[in-house]
Amino acid sequence: MTEQVRGTPSHYSTITYRSTLSPCAARKMGKIHRSGPPRRLLTREYLHVNVNERYLEMMNFEELNEKTRGYMLTEFEAEEASGNPYRGERLSAAGRAAFPDLMRQAIQTGNEQSLRSALMKSAYWNPTETYVRDGIARTRNINLHQAVEQLSLSEFNTWYVRGLTKRLMDEGVRSCQAYRGETPKWEPGECAAHEGQIFSVEDIYKGHRVKYWPKPGNPDALSIPFTPGCHHTIRRVE
Ligand SMILES: [Zn+2]
Repeated sequence: MTEQVRGTPSHYSTITYRSTLSPCAARKMGKIHRSGPPRRLLTREYLHVNVNERYLEMMNFEELNEKTRGYMLTEFEAEEASGNPYRGERLSAAGRAAFPDLMRQAIQTGNEQSLRSALMKSAYWNPTETYVRDGIARTRNINLHQAVEQLSLSEFNTWYVRGLTKRLMDEGVRSCQAYRGETPKWEPGECAAHEGQIFSVEDIYKGHRVKYWPKPGNPDALSIPFTPGCHHTIRRVE
């Protein structure tokens, strides 16, 4: 097991990352700060944190045991056999080819940290990506550590949530609770609203990837993790 090493808290003390929500949605949630800096600046701060911060963290998956891993693997193999499995968009051809076995190994005997270690090869990642700003397509470099961190956390958590919800349904458990598997150094603004929320197990099971996959997805749907960078996972509610 990799030793847990926390980031330097002081690095974050001057940074306020508020939200990637639209102003309208943020206002509804009471999260808009009218006197704050413009959103573009917040986005830069957010990128700054991710590009410069290298840290290890460990999620607390309360029921990551043999039984849950079995459910995770069954669910994973079903998506792999679907003909259209999700692949991280920043993965290179080599990364896409390697990913299924690496994910399989993490599900069977590892966790998000072992997946991160396995994915930490520059050959697995595209060097650049395109994005659109102000209506213009631009290119930027992909930061290896940021890309690995995001995909390993979100994919392992995605399969944990999928597998555990299936298990809970089989056990007749109807409700689950969202909790932070790890105290994040930063998190999307909407995450604060999800802490401790109770959901239908079946809703979360069916919400698997529907926000973003298959494309274009449904942004209004409920999926856990809620968004990239989200450290929320679920626990059973008896
Ligand atoms: Zn979250």
